[in-house]
Amino acid sequence: MTKKLISIVVPCYNEEPTLEKFYAAITKISREMSEVDFEYIFIDDGSKDGTLAEIEKLHEKDKRVKFVSFSRNFGKEAGILAGLEYAKGDYVATMDADLQDPPELLPEMYAAVSSGDYDCAGARRASRKGEPPIRSFFAKIYYFIVNKLSKVEMIEGVRDFRLMSRQMVDAVISMREYNRYSKGIFSFVGFRTKWIEFDHVDRVAGETKWSFWKLFVYGIESICAFSTVPLVLSAVLGLIFCLVAFIMIIVIVVKTLAFGDPVGGWPSMICVILMMGGLQLMALGVIGQYLAKTYLETKGRPIYLVRKTEKDLDREKKS
Ligand code: UDP
Ligand code: MG
Repeated sequence: MTKKLISIVVPCYNEEPTLEKFYAAITKISREMSEVDFEYIFIDDGSKDGTLAEIEKLHEKDKRVKFVSFSRNFGKEAGILAGLEYAKGDYVATMDADLQDPPELLPEMYAAVSSGDYDCAGARRASRKGEPPIRSFFAKIYYFIVNKLSKVEMIEGVRDFRLMSRQMVDAVISMREYNRYSKGIFSFVGFRTKWIEFDHVDRVAGETKWSFWKLFVYGIESICAFSTVPLVLSAVLGLIFCLVAFIMIIVIVVKTLAFGDPVGGWPSMICVILMMGGLQLMALGVIGQYLAKTYLETKGRPIYLVRKTEKDLDREKKS
């Protein structure tokens, strides 16, 4: 029987200090899992440091190391898609380069998926230990809102570390949207997923690319990507305020007829005008957000552009 192949897809953006450690850790696991073959696909997402050179060095040393280098930074989601498309494996795992996704989970994941009971095994953080409390607080609120608003379920603490069967990988690749939000995409395609819990680990080196503000914008975008409920909400809110206004008109007309018309209530009127103006702008903003996304989707731009792969490097070396 031929050995099955596992492709490990690793998006890297400015990961020069971590790559060597990552490679050491993943090859250690691959030696332990001798019943399968491995290939490693590093995606250099337009890094500004020596990430690409580091990857090329690994490729020289180990031909199982393959890479795709983007023409600029396209974001982690694009990196994951490129990796999935390049991967030839019967199973494909996606993981971060910073060893925050412990490779030690791979054997357990492989056991779950290869048994045929599951199509995917994903890692899930058991707790938010070691994180600033304010961040955990906002994460809680985010998951509450996103799950109330969208049809697909977003499970808290899930990382982009998962091992998938070929069928599931093909399903993910078939989702061609430009605004990619992988948590939502993985959840949308379905399939039977086993969750494996693990404790949070800190980055081995380098630093995170996520600021609070970036996470906030990402959160809003993800809600737009998998839910149209905000549009309905603005319509419902508009309806409610129309009803309130209607009742107020009747009250005022009756009051004027019965008690005359002393001019009053100017401050309250300004408040109402401001509030209505604000609500209208908000609703417009919500519509605008969807329109902007639709605009980007209809352009049909490529999700990523490749500058170099390991095949180019091999050719360079030969000539
Ligand atoms: N990453 C990427 N492109 C980007 C930003 C990040 O490919 O534009 C990669 C990064 O190199 C890492 C993974 O995505 O392998 C997760 O990034 P990071 O560790 O900064 O995020 P965190 O773990 O803090 O959520
Ligand atoms: Mg990380």
